[in-house]
Amino acid sequence: MKVIVVGSSHGGYETVRGILAEQPDTEIQWYEKGDFLSFLSCGMQLYLEGVVKDVNSVRYATPEGMRAQGVHVFTRQEITQVDAAKHQVTVHDLAHDTTRTESYDKLVLSVGAVPVNLPVPGNDLKNVYAMRGRDWAIKLKAKTVDPTVQNVVVIGAGYIGVEAAEVFAKAGKHVTLIDMIARPLGLYLDAEFTDRLTETMKANNIYPATGQLVKEFVGHQGAVQQVVTDQGTYPADLVIQTAGIKANTGWLKGVVDLDEKGLVKINDHLETSVADVYAVGDATKVPFAPTDTPQQIALATNARRQGRIAAKNVLGDDVAMPPVSGSSALSVFDYHFASTGIKEGTAERYGVKTASVFVTDTTQPPFVPTEAGNTEVYFKLTYDPASLRVLGAQIMSKRDVTANINAISLAIQGKMTLKDLAYADFFFQPGFDRPWNIMNVAAQKALLAEK
Ligand code: FAD
Repeated sequence: MKVIVVGSSHGGYETVRGILAEQPDTEIQWYEKGDFLSFLSCGMQLYLEGVVKDVNSVRYATPEGMRAQGVHVFTRQEITQVDAAKHQVTVHDLAHDTTRTESYDKLVLSVGAVPVNLPVPGNDLKNVYAMRGRDWAIKLKAKTVDPTVQNVVVIGAGYIGVEAAEVFAKAGKHVTLIDMIARPLGLYLDAEFTDRLTETMKANNIYPATGQLVKEFVGHQGAVQQVVTDQGTYPADLVIQTAGIKANTGWLKGVVDLDEKGLVKINDHLETSVADVYAVGDATKVPFAPTDTPQQIALATNARRQGRIAAKNVLGDDVAMPPVSGSSALSVFDYHFASTGIKEGTAERYGVKTASVFVTDTTQPPFVPTEAGNTEVYFKLTYDPASLRVLGAQIMSKRDVTANINAISLAIQGKMTLKDLAYADFFFQPGFDRPWNIMNVAAQKALLAEK
């Protein structure tokens, strides 16, 4: 069997790995239109902050390593057309500007997405950047040490924007963080958490300008100088746009069914509307466990799971994509947070009625001194007030307790209720935590509130 995999980031990589793991003698052709195989944007902050020194190490696969496993790897070769009836693709060799056709038995698309370039005047000015992929990583790195860059404006206060803001604040720049929604990280955390993070950001030279719409980039001699919103004007030697993504699917119109956002429509086996063509990753939706509906949740974790499931189905297995909870984690200066599922702030967009409890505790028993690492921890549990089903949670502390959120993710996937969680078995050792884990405490508090 011959399988063609398009795209070399998380989804494509995991598809290839999955096929190799189960049927290593499969003929695999793996295509990437960029000149670098398998750059992982998730590692970008670590590179920009100098923790990871070599930009070329931010990957899991090299062409040589994959070729040694029998994979036919092609970089700077773009798939430009699919002839589904003939089971053929058109390959544009960008290095030599030639085209050819290749046949496939199965085709897996992991074409991903690109950052949105805001449709405002001045969006083509010099020094208006994005943060995704190796090329932008190299350009951004140069700006972290450029003394002419003093004022940085980041547009989009999701986790990528906050990563960008922290990189440049740590590099000594003055950072303005603009978003149209009211709070930074507002889709990940509720106000109990973002209020604290906003104070931390301000103390570290990041100034949130939220609830504002960008109207224009103003330039001087072709380079950006100011960002104008509906509420103010901000000086900018560098603008980083992290305000959403757009699927790389324009070329697939008329080939496979796309939704109104250009995402490839797939079924639970990751099959597109066309036989033998699968799609995974940021250009698709994933089944969201709290609502049992497909949602767009652009995360490497989801692309990875889909890649594995696609590989199995390509090889003749019959596996449905398991619902995911949309879990993610991030550090913002001293704080570490993680969240999963539905928050109070996102309940309306999912059309779900929720109730929540918020708990402040210490990570360890009171007798453990702060010098030993004992510190405050904040936890919020969100649930369905009718069924008491667990729907989401958020946790934050200066100590890294983020892994608790994985347990809540599992509780959501397992359709557990407050009653299940209230007395669930979690370990205790005073060096780590308290006799009742904060997840137990929150569920018990919620049960009392619902009595
Ligand atoms: P993409 O990563 O978008 O890759 C698609 C690839 O396909 C690209 O290399 C592209 O050049 C290639 N391609 C597209 N079309 C063609 C074509 N026609 N022919 C050939 N090649 C083509 N997620 C997490 O879970 N945790 C994190 O910590 C995290 N951090 C992130 C940090 C940053 C800065 C960014 C930008 C994203 C982060 N993500 C994180 C999200 C994660 O990177 C994406 O969800 C993931 O990369 C999606 O993988 P993908 O395979 O769908 O597509």
